[in-house]
Amino acid sequence: MSTECAWEKRQFGHRARLALTPAQVQLMDDQAHAARTMWNCLHDWWTMLPKERRSLAAADVAIRQARREVDWLGVLPAQAAQAVLKTYFQAWRNCWEGRADAPNFKARFRSVMSVDVPQGRDLNITRVHRRWGMVTIPKVGRVRFRWTKDLPVGKRANADNRITGARLVKDSLGWHIAFRVQTRESKPVPHTGPEVGIDAGVTVPLALSDGNHQMHERWKSTKEKPNTWLTEKEQAKLLCLEQRAAQRKQHRKPGERTSNRLRTTYDQIAGLRARAKRRHLDWQHQTTTGLAWQYGTVVVEALQVTNMVRSARGTVDEPGKNVAQKRGLNRSISQEAWGRTVDILTYKLAQRGATLHKVPAPGTSQRCSECGLTTPGSRESQALFVCRNTGCGWSGNADHNAARNILHLYRMGHALIPAAGRAVVRRAKRVKPTAARQVGISRPQPEEHFNEVMRHRSASARRWRRCCWPTRRRSCCCSTSRATTWTWRA
Ligand SMILES: [Zn+2]
Repeated sequence: MSTECAWEKRQFGHRARLALTPAQVQLMDDQAHAARTMWNCLHDWWTMLPKERRSLAAADVAIRQARREVDWLGVLPAQAAQAVLKTYFQAWRNCWEGRADAPNFKARFRSVMSVDVPQGRDLNITRVHRRWGMVTIPKVGRVRFRWTKDLPVGKRANADNRITGARLVKDSLGWHIAFRVQTRESKPVPHTGPEVGIDAGVTVPLALSDGNHQMHERWKSTKEKPNTWLTEKEQAKLLCLEQRAAQRKQHRKPGERTSNRLRTTYDQIAGLRARAKRRHLDWQHQTTTGLAWQYGTVVVEALQVTNMVRSARGTVDEPGKNVAQKRGLNRSISQEAWGRTVDILTYKLAQRGATLHKVPAPGTSQRCSECGLTTPGSRESQALFVCRNTGCGWSGNADHNAARNILHLYRMGHALIPAAGRAVVRRAKRVKPTAARQVGISRPQPEEHFNEVMRHRSASARRWRRCCWPTRRRSCCCSTSRATTWTWRA
């Protein structure tokens, strides 16, 4: 008797730090600059040509010619040059399908330095030590890298489990290699853990509807220390460096090149910021792993962070109010990087057979999660929620209140899109709501919704605190008036 076991292909990235000699770093930098220039030349060529003469084959010929005739473009391996073309064409495809803006030129200092190694067999990875592996980088040679994960190489590699390629990326710590790993794993059994609503907030980073809040107490921001993820000493150092950079920039004449001193200061600033980011990412990974083990269904808000961090500055004629306050709030919101938390959570949940759902955000922080009423003035402050409804008076943490509302919306069937498992399918920017509904966004139809409401109303006498509390219908979360005013923005 054979046991039924469903397999699925899993693709993920794994990042490792490379140990390069200064000479090798120079070679890598040259390659990255050549790749960037290749992109810029390609963009120039593509936008200049008439439409009917643009084709991938013509671009390929142009790239080959450029690599032959220009010495410093020749340092880029042929495969990496082809990868530039592939990435460039994908950028246009993303633009045509409405997912991104049109590709543009890459500036020397603003763009991330990277080189692609599109074929896994060129890498020739071996493990040489408990902590170290070796990899071949085209035109650079054998390089050691930090071995922190069991990669499918050597005897463990086969058609299903292998490394399909890599990308070399430089950040403030130096060059890293990001492997593209493909494995075949057994499908996870459905997670039987409880449901939970999560609200991302500023006072409580991740507030959970069951009160199991996730904090980063050690890295709390204060008035003197606005950057959450740095110690006070590092914060003072960062301020000092930023002032130094500003002063050096001030004394620079227009058109003058950035001095080596100023560039060093920029590097030091970037180093500190990268350290803060690494600490935050570590916290995010540890927290989301814990959540994914514990819960079977996770509900989050569909947030539009870019809209939330819009400046309050206003215009010259109509200057905004509390601009500095809003700026501080914006900084706190950006530092939390909620979008990344949700991204990480999505794949970790899918890996363990759990699901992630999104519900519409409007009103979750203003409504009382006990009586379901939105009474003006209930949100006492950023941290505290006290229900102003006579006869309720529930009080608690404002983020916790929102988390309970989020879970409630999910239980009422207001989930927008089942995000887990289809995270890779990005929806186009401009999709009409009618089309979006066909793609599979579950929103109750008016009749269905009305029936749902009525069913809950009759049951509310028996069941304590389900939806449609025995109160005015206008302010109930599932009244049709509120439900139909959602506008779905991807
Ligand atoms: Zn209340």
